[in-house]
Amino acid sequence: MCSDSGKTRLIIDVGMPLVSSSGTPFEWNLYKDLPQEQLLKQKILPAVNGLYNHQKPSVAAVILSHAHQDHYGFFRFIHPDIPLYMSQGTKSLVEVSNLFLGTGVNLDHSQIFAMWQPFRVEEFTITPYLMDHSAPDAAAFLIEADGQRLFYTGDFRGHGRKRLLLERLLASPISNVDCLVMEGSMIGRDEGQYPDETAVEQAIYNVIAGQQSYTFVFCSSQNLDRLVSIYRAVKRAGKMLVIDLYTAFVLDKLGSISSNIPQFDWGEIRVLYAYSHAHKLAECDKKLLYKYKQAKVGWEEIKATPQDMVILSKDNFYFRRITLPKLGASGGARAIYSMWHGYLERTDLPQFLSSHNIELVEIHTSGHAYVEDLKKLACTLNPRCLVPIHTFYPEQYGSLYKNIVQLDDGQVYYL
Ligand SMILES: [Zn+2]
Repeated sequence: MCSDSGKTRLIIDVGMPLVSSSGTPFEWNLYKDLPQEQLLKQKILPAVNGLYNHQKPSVAAVILSHAHQDHYGFFRFIHPDIPLYMSQGTKSLVEVSNLFLGTGVNLDHSQIFAMWQPFRVEEFTITPYLMDHSAPDAAAFLIEADGQRLFYTGDFRGHGRKRLLLERLLASPISNVDCLVMEGSMIGRDEGQYPDETAVEQAIYNVIAGQQSYTFVFCSSQNLDRLVSIYRAVKRAGKMLVIDLYTAFVLDKLGSISSNIPQFDWGEIRVLYAYSHAHKLAECDKKLLYKYKQAKVGWEEIKATPQDMVILSKDNFYFRRITLPKLGASGGARAIYSMWHGYLERTDLPQFLSSHNIELVEIHTSGHAYVEDLKKLACTLNPRCLVPIHTFYPEQYGSLYKNIVQLDDGQVYYL
């Protein structure tokens, strides 16, 4: 965004694409060794002058809506002198990902904003709104400058654990919005079997309550709503949730945003130590290894009562080559896949589990708003124009609202 004077430019989110221009999953590994100039030339990085490490910085600030890779995956290329604004929860997740996943974001010039508290970046006034999304502490932004008001939704939904946030926004909408920039991930996508997080929690409970052997739950450790659903189902079923050190660290870091976030020292949670995680954590702070030790669980303990163990899992080397061999054959083990179905289609996990006689069930609800909620938000905010983003079907926005302005990448639009 640029102010009328042309002096101040503001960037919202600098994400890594989920799909390539040909529509296949985007493979960062194919590009990661290229110099920035090449990444720009090949249009992998968006063409924004004065944003990147190798350029003279001329962007006033970058604001980040939430900690998903498709929103901050290219932050590593931002010039270190440009301030980065984000919520506390988002910053915590970026720090965790820097440590464990090597996302390489320089947070030296990061600034924390508080939800619903306006802050200024030169000619812009920005008010963050806490939104319901699968990433915790996700924000939408009301951005005001030169008498114009733009509302950027970020990613959001109305069927998660914080669904009240959307209800409140609809009940007392922001007035005089000139431009609504709204995501539409669910346009053209199947809504699936489970309408909300409550349905997901119940379905997980139904699976684990009657289990006579291990349950493996495949879920992102940064999807806080889902971890809470799993934790609640485990607690209700009187079972034990086994998490890894990485997850313990994520929950610990996010503990500062809410006291309702499950923690390693809660009664139903135990922590499994993997060497690679312990090594990473020690790099950050060795004391953490001692801190989480009080909840440490060993293989023998897990094997003693398999029917009680709900093991948070990732489809990786550790699960395939260490966890399963360590636990040995155990008839009746089941796996719950609690992530977007599209990810499952990219792996041979179903075949792998089947070859180990582990039954797979999918229990998931989207992190993105249903079409009905998109329509409600657009009609309630009643902006002068609506710009589609974060969607495969911008041409379908016409069924949601009247004044759609469909923009191509890099196209300039004057409000
Ligand atoms: Zn997201």
